[in-house]
Amino acid sequence: MEEIELLKKQIEQEQEVRRKTQVLLQEKTMHLALVEEQLRNLNASLERQIEEGNAALKQSENRYQQLVESLKDIVYKISPEGFFTFVNPVVEQVLGYKENEIIGKHFTELVLPEYREALTGFYWNMMKEKQGSTYTEFPAMAKDSRVVWIGQSVHLLKKDNRTVELSAVARDITDKKNTEDILRTTEGRLTALITNLQKAVLVEDENRKVILVNQLFCDFFGISATPDTLIGTNSFESLEQIKFSFEDPESFMSRMTELINNQKIVVEEKITAVDGRILERDYIPIFQEGVYRGNLWEYADITQRHLSAENIRKSEEKYRKIMDNMELGLLEVDNDQRIVRAYDRFCKMIGYSEEELVGKIAPELFISKDYESILNAEQEKRTQGRGSSYEMKLIRKDGSPLWAIISGTPIIDEDGKTVGSIGLHYDITERKQLEQELKQAKQIAEDASHAEKQFLANMSHEIRTPLNAIIGMTHLLFDTRPSQQQKEYLDILKTTADFLYGLISNLLDMAKIEDGRVEVKKKSFDLIGVLRTTQQIFKIKLDNRPIKLNLMIDGQIEGNYIGDDLLLNQILLNIVGNAEKFTEEGTIEIAVKVKKEEGENIWLEFKVSDTGIGIPTEKLDLIFQKFEQVTLDGNKHRGTGLGLAITKQLVELQGGSISVKSIEGQGSTFSFILPFQKTPEGINTIKKDITAEGLKVTRILVAEDNAMNQKYISNLLNKWNFPFIIAPDGKKAVELAQKQVFDIILMDIQMPNMDGYEATINIRNTDNPNKKTPIIALTASALVDQKNRAMAVGMNDFISKPFTPNHLLGTIQEYLNAQKTSDKEVITNTNGKIELNRAFLNELYGDDKEYAADMFQTFLLEVIPDFSILKDLINNQNWDTLAKVVHKLKPTLAMVGLPALEKEMLDFEEKIGVSPDKEVLGLIWNDIFADITQCIPIIESELAKLRT
Ligand code: ADP
Repeated sequence: MEEIELLKKQIEQEQEVRRKTQVLLQEKTMHLALVEEQLRNLNASLERQIEEGNAALKQSENRYQQLVESLKDIVYKISPEGFFTFVNPVVEQVLGYKENEIIGKHFTELVLPEYREALTGFYWNMMKEKQGSTYTEFPAMAKDSRVVWIGQSVHLLKKDNRTVELSAVARDITDKKNTEDILRTTEGRLTALITNLQKAVLVEDENRKVILVNQLFCDFFGISATPDTLIGTNSFESLEQIKFSFEDPESFMSRMTELINNQKIVVEEKITAVDGRILERDYIPIFQEGVYRGNLWEYADITQRHLSAENIRKSEEKYRKIMDNMELGLLEVDNDQRIVRAYDRFCKMIGYSEEELVGKIAPELFISKDYESILNAEQEKRTQGRGSSYEMKLIRKDGSPLWAIISGTPIIDEDGKTVGSIGLHYDITERKQLEQELKQAKQIAEDASHAEKQFLANMSHEIRTPLNAIIGMTHLLFDTRPSQQQKEYLDILKTTADFLYGLISNLLDMAKIEDGRVEVKKKSFDLIGVLRTTQQIFKIKLDNRPIKLNLMIDGQIEGNYIGDDLLLNQILLNIVGNAEKFTEEGTIEIAVKVKKEEGENIWLEFKVSDTGIGIPTEKLDLIFQKFEQVTLDGNKHRGTGLGLAITKQLVELQGGSISVKSIEGQGSTFSFILPFQKTPEGINTIKKDITAEGLKVTRILVAEDNAMNQKYISNLLNKWNFPFIIAPDGKKAVELAQKQVFDIILMDIQMPNMDGYEATINIRNTDNPNKKTPIIALTASALVDQKNRAMAVGMNDFISKPFTPNHLLGTIQEYLNAQKTSDKEVITNTNGKIELNRAFLNELYGDDKEYAADMFQTFLLEVIPDFSILKDLINNQNWDTLAKVVHKLKPTLAMVGLPALEKEMLDFEEKIGVSPDKEVLGLIWNDIFADITQCIPIIESELAKLRT
């Protein structure tokens, strides 16, 4: 119970605490409400107070703000530490920052880096020196990085003698700054210009007070003061100082006054200084907006320029004098040929005065019309900047011609452009006239000489026609076994005719050489053979006379040489002929030796010495001249005096030289040196002997009206077994040519009814089987004209009468071979079938089947077996015989319609001659032989056809 009691008590106690706590809480709550009430009251009063204060503040702030914002200037404040505390909205217009972006920033952030230090220093200084307000300029950086120049007034705001703030009014001064810059540079440039000007400059105002002067001015006139100290002084003072620098001080001063009074620009006035300097003065009055404001004086020292101009003038003078003395006329023209300047000498040459010339177009005034194109060509060169010399015909004022050699040079300006040209004229009128006279004289001489030659040719023509017959007949008479008596007469006849022939030949030779018609024809020939032949000929000639004829040949000389054997032969005949003529007894010696060798080239020296009458020393120089005969002993030595002149020319024509040594009464030695070329080792060309043998001739047509000539030719052709027909005139020849094929036609030129030219034209151009037959002209005239004409009408060659039997035979042979080999048709047709050359056969045999059959049969029976021996000859390397056999067999192939094979044989023959080689020749021959063998059945069947 006690426990319960205790518990009750405990509860009662707890209830008591709870009650008490409740009361306390009530009390506290009440108190709090009171405090709250009090606080609320206080707050209300405070709020009221603030509201009142705020209103007042706002009022003043508004006013201030309006003021600030009405300005275009930035107004800002920064703390002494440099942070922005205030800025007005203008900042946005100037720098692009909003106010709130600026507040709190350090001022340096807005300043260009390189000015930050300076500006900081400036503020520091301001604070340190306690300056109330200052002005400063600096470049600021706008938000978009533009540089904005700021000019600002800064004020210190102090409280208790302590800086509390800096306030500033700042303005954008960029434009002003830029203008300042420009002004500064211009000013700088001007100053630099004036100071560096190579002229002395003085600028004075209207009261003659010095505004500007440069150092050069002081230097020029020896003024010791510096330009700076002169500025502001009266320029009269300086002038008084400098006037004595001039030769005439008073007129210098008075001229100046005069200039100032006139107020007109006067430049390049020359004044001579006492020390010899030459000055050039410019006076320029200065006007500003129409009002006279002063003067600009410039002085330049032109002594040097003046001197060089003087020098140029002097040298020009000098050259003009030289040119005048040299008789050179000088003319200057522009690009349009307009005369710019004409010098004295030229004026004298052409006859016009300088005034008449200048401004005129040169070619219009005095260039001969026919020279305009030359002038234009020259002018073209000039525009390309090239100079040149040329000859020109000008017309003088009086109409007479002025011939001049002109040396033209382009005139080129500083830019390299041609602005005209200058021509030096050298008068060659006299020379030109002389030249023309000479030309005329030469023409007359040439005409005369031509007439002489024509006469000579005509005369020889007249003489040669009968002479031809005489010589020809003599030859034939010797063949008719004359009696001893007759033979003697014949000898005389022959000697006389030969002399006459020689004379005419010499004359014609000389004419030919002088006309340049003699050509050196080089070919490989047997030198020793030529020498031996000469020896043989003269041995026969010397017959029983007590003269030995020796031939001495240098051991080094052997084989063939390349040169003109015909000319060599003629030279030898002339010289040995003379030795024979002028030697009674003793020895004639022909000696040949190698004089010089150089690679392929070899020079041989020929010496012909005799023990004859010799030549007087004083005549030695003469004997090589035309028509010079030293030994004038009547009829004993007959000659023309042309032999040695011709000989010398023939030697020199070949690049050789000739000389003579002689002792009168003892003998003479003629030496000549000629160049030759060596032939490669082993070459031994086949000597093509002129023989009628092996030459198969079907028929020859001879057109000749002269009975004697007819006889001469007939006898020769009969002797060679050549069938022929004679036509007594051109007309008959044409008729015959229409009927049958000829191997060759020998055609006289002068014939009755129809001459040789006409007949040839007829044969060449009408339908007949001889259109292509070789036609050889036979004529007594050796004139080139006739030869050309013969060729022009279609003849193939030309034999001038009198011809030797060999000459005629050689020509016939040459043309028969050429004709056959010229046909290059292959033996097979396009199908590879062997075919005979029908055209060729037709030409050979025409309708004469019997003759053709005869030829074909002969070929098969007699010629074919001969081909088989060639193989052995090749194997035995019997080259000489091989060449001979091939040469003989070759033409037979053409006779059976195989001209292509004949050509192969010809090539083969040439190979044997040039480089005989067993292997090579063996192979070639095999080919040819195979071809021939292939052809046999075809020839056989052709023969069968011909027989039916
Ligand atoms: P020509 O036809 O008269 O002989 P050349 O011109 O051949 O004329 O010779 C001219 C002259 O030179 C001869 O007339 C002769 O006087 C002289 N002459 C030429 N060769 C000899 C020689 N071997 N001996 C003596 N005199 C010679």
